[in-house]
Amino acid sequence: MSKGALMACAAGVRVLAEAALDWVYPRHCYDCGRPIYEPGRSVLCRDCARLLQETRLDGHVCSVCGMPLPAAPGDGALCLTCMAEERYFDRARSFFSYAGPVAPVIRSFKFRGEFFLGPRLLEHALRRGWMPPQLEPPAAIVPVPLHRRRRRERGYNQAALLGRVLARHFRCPLIDRALKRTRHTSRQTGLSRTRRLDNVRGAFAITRPRAVRKMNLLVVDDVMTTGATVDECCKVLKRADAATVQALTLARAMR
Ligand SMILES: [Zn+2]
Ligand SMILES: [Zn+2]
Repeated sequence: MSKGALMACAAGVRVLAEAALDWVYPRHCYDCGRPIYEPGRSVLCRDCARLLQETRLDGHVCSVCGMPLPAAPGDGALCLTCMAEERYFDRARSFFSYAGPVAPVIRSFKFRGEFFLGPRLLEHALRRGWMPPQLEPPAAIVPVPLHRRRRRERGYNQAALLGRVLARHFRCPLIDRALKRTRHTSRQTGLSRTRRLDNVRGAFAITRPRAVRKMNLLVVDDVMTTGATVDECCKVLKRADAATVQALTLARAMR
């Protein structure tokens, strides 16, 4: 048997085994909790998966930070924050708004040890060709790092898991640990924009300067709210002489 036929055969066996397992132990939808009797890797039932379409951020957005804007602005329209302040990222985008079925999936991904959920949601989007507007294909991916202590608590860096999927998609390297978090920062949740900026200022340092120099980079994280965290990472990368730095997150929380 040829190698290709063997691989196809193994893939077939895996699909059958997964389907059989799903039948015995049905997975449950992470949004509504109903069992999912479907072969494949979905983490949402068909109804909740359909709602994902409505949370996509593929409409009119600020040309810099990706914040949704009302009505149809012209090309290069900016939100109020980007008009008032300079951002270090050249462009930031997100796949979904942090709403509907996206929120419970990301909460379980981040806080309940279900490390496979974020990658599955991202693969769901990529398989359908969903890509936020105006994003340029990068030359390398840089995940937002976690502090050693938080990484140890969680067991994984959720941004790196998403980064791995995107590196495969863009066929480019993932530069894990290009940055490190030098300070254990308190959680950003519930902080105002100014407090968030103060909280992350100086929290990152470059550890692999040669790997990022003159590169078109994509900084990846799970959720962006004010953009303070990704912007601080982009600042450090720009100072290390990266050519361009875009940011991409799975979801965007609107305050
Ligand atoms: Zn559901
Ligand atoms: Zn903006």
